[in-house]
Amino acid sequence: MKTLNAIRFIFPGISLNEHTARAVVSAFLVQTDPTVEELADIRTAVSEAVTNAVVHGYRHNDGDVELCIKLLADREIYIRIKDKGCGISDIEKAMEPLYTTAPHEERSGLGFAVMQSFMDSVRVRSKPGEGTTVTMRKKLRSIPCRSN
Ligand code: ATP
Ligand code: MG
Repeated sequence: MKTLNAIRFIFPGISLNEHTARAVVSAFLVQTDPTVEELADIRTAVSEAVTNAVVHGYRHNDGDVELCIKLLADREIYIRIKDKGCGISDIEKAMEPLYTTAPHEERSGLGFAVMQSFMDSVRVRSKPGEGTTVTMRKKLRSIPCRSN
């Protein structure tokens, strides 16, 4: 599908940058005139994926996270969040609601479920020792044409 606009933002995978990533997403989405709900949904999904990269991927050690956002034709938003952290050995299991490998950190295992409920699609690619890439898509509501 045709890409109308795109940005790539690479940042250190530290908790502080969860806010930065949300702000970058908001800034990029201004051009699409999203509803408050669409914006909140996408910001939340991005936040969950970035938190996972920081907390699970890098386990609070140093490492960069890459956020790529594209505006595609027909008002579709494409988002990719990539880390080069520890990776996931069983992706299907990891995506089950309430599954977490960090219950001691008061994680509830709902991050992927949140991403799936707020976005139209969520795809995860990962290899142990190599890192994880989460790709999400969401189609924004269409804007009615002005007739004057
Ligand atoms: P919550 O998001 O509710 O705080 P959580 O992060 O454990 O808890 P999910 O976001 O659903 O729950 O992730 C489920 C599990 O998938 C994690 O516990 C972790 O084991 C694994 N995981 C998710 N993202 C990554 C990542 N980027 N790198 C390595 N492991 C990951
Ligand atoms: Mg999570």
